[in-house]
Amino acid sequence: MVLPVSNPTKSFWIEEASSELRNFRSTEELPNETDVIIIGSGYSGATTAYWLNKYTENDAQKPRMLMLEARDICGSATGRNGGQLRPHAYSRYPAWSTRFGSDGAMKLIQHEMAHLTAFQNLLAEEDIAEEVCFRLGETFDAAMSDEAWERLQGAYQAMRKDHGDDDEVVSACRLIEDPKAAAEFTQMKGCLGAVVHPAGQVWPYKFVHALLRIVLKTGNLNLQAHTPAESVSERDESGWITVKTARGEVRTKTVVHATNRWASHLLPEFDNLIFGNRSTLASIKAPEGFIKHTGAQHWDSMVNNYHLQLPPPYNSIIIGGARSLLVHSPQECYPNDEEHKQFYGAPEFFKSWPESDVAGWPGKHQAELARNVDDGGCWSGIESTSIDSFPFVGDIPNRSGHFVTAGFSGHGMPRILLSTAHIAPLVLDDLGFTHSPPALVAPYPLLPKPFQTTAERIDSLQTVDSVAFFEKISKDCLESAKKPFCNKAKS
Ligand SMILES: Cc1cc2nc3c(=O)[nH]c(=O)nc-3n(C[C@H](O)[C@H](O)[C@H](O)COP(=O)(O)OP(=O)(O)OC[C@H]3O[C@@H](n4cnc5c(N)ncnc54)[C@H](O)[C@@H]3O)c2cc1C
Repeated sequence: MVLPVSNPTKSFWIEEASSELRNFRSTEELPNETDVIIIGSGYSGATTAYWLNKYTENDAQKPRMLMLEARDICGSATGRNGGQLRPHAYSRYPAWSTRFGSDGAMKLIQHEMAHLTAFQNLLAEEDIAEEVCFRLGETFDAAMSDEAWERLQGAYQAMRKDHGDDDEVVSACRLIEDPKAAAEFTQMKGCLGAVVHPAGQVWPYKFVHALLRIVLKTGNLNLQAHTPAESVSERDESGWITVKTARGEVRTKTVVHATNRWASHLLPEFDNLIFGNRSTLASIKAPEGFIKHTGAQHWDSMVNNYHLQLPPPYNSIIIGGARSLLVHSPQECYPNDEEHKQFYGAPEFFKSWPESDVAGWPGKHQAELARNVDDGGCWSGIESTSIDSFPFVGDIPNRSGHFVTAGFSGHGMPRILLSTAHIAPLVLDDLGFTHSPPALVAPYPLLPKPFQTTAERIDSLQTVDSVAFFEKISKDCLESAKKPFCNKAKS
């Protein structure tokens, strides 16, 4: 049983946005009853509310919604992440095709790729693309070692071999094999080669706050910051579920658990399924338009950095990873919920990154953080580790009226929008409300099978040896820690 810590390190995205909704409460008291309680106000919770509203836009009856948030609004993973809307376009292909076959792997990839258009269309329809600093373009995986180049190229070639050059995803990806051309495209010093594919970037916190503002305007959403749900009941004979908080109880017909890493606090069956792992990011001052593409550097499968640059007037580089530093102390990351702590040495690591890693960095000395170190300059964030690497999206077996969208790990941006589009009609059917899919969701792929919350999946994952799972990750980190690229001065 675990709730988010109350004093997390401060993230650039939250502090810089200065949103009026940060500590928002629609009403002083909680309502006595509602149709849907959404627990969690991150990307999952906000898009669930958005879709519930959209699916019933043309219907007379719309669900009354109450959103409960333990922290400030969108104060957890979505407010503290890397901002990369970066599908796994090819890199997971070998692992996924081994588990789900070549078609199963491609369905997972197509679902992620579809998020690029889905975001673009939604933001255009709501006219918020500029507000949320959305950009579509190309991203790269830069190979910084022979080991990484072999793995990245191998993944792309495996997908190409199975699906052919005419496949839409295969043809959207390309290799830059010439090291000089790769270094030029990626701006990464010492890059040996790169794989390039379409991706986007967004200010996730502003995106969530914009969606909530839109749904709040309809009058169908009651939003409550700093109100952790302490317990949830089963549905009683009259069809009500009771959710308890320190501010009182609310009865509801349905509950959507959009609680990510913290799902097991209310749902013990997720205890062995979703864990917290801690990672770190920083914001760095940079000249306008300095970074051309979002991207990631890879040394081996454990060691990477990833970065993007925000458009003016912000211009900050958001960089995450520092894995060549973190692998030396795996217990600080896996499993770990200490979001109130900075990683020792992380600010210095990030400040030295532009000069050591980016070609043409104009300054010779350490870069400046975009905000003071403990005020959004550098921060920790809790990613949720799902024990089988996939999120849990759907109705919860043996819990009538309860739905979950959680466990998106460090990779929710290209997965959540269309996952919650799947949840909304399930909830509305359960409520007995009429609804129709908005044009925005019509063309997209169905929820991938590995995301589904079958009793079989949940039961079998409860028996996985999670201690051995994390021991293996620690061992892999410590193996990486011995390699030369983890033993440079800044690591
Ligand atoms: C450091 C970091 C970097 C990342 N970088 C990227 C990236 O670049 N690209 C990418 O695709 N993904 C990235 N991710 C992952 C991505 O941020 C998540 O997958 C996504 O934000 C999850 O959204 P969510 O709404 O499910 O979870 P969250 O944003 O964590 O929202 C869950 C909410 O539930 C609340 N809550 C929990 N329990 C309760 C309760 N009992 N009562 C009330 N409220 C409760 C929490 O406070 C929280 O606000 C990163 C994550 C981290 C931490």
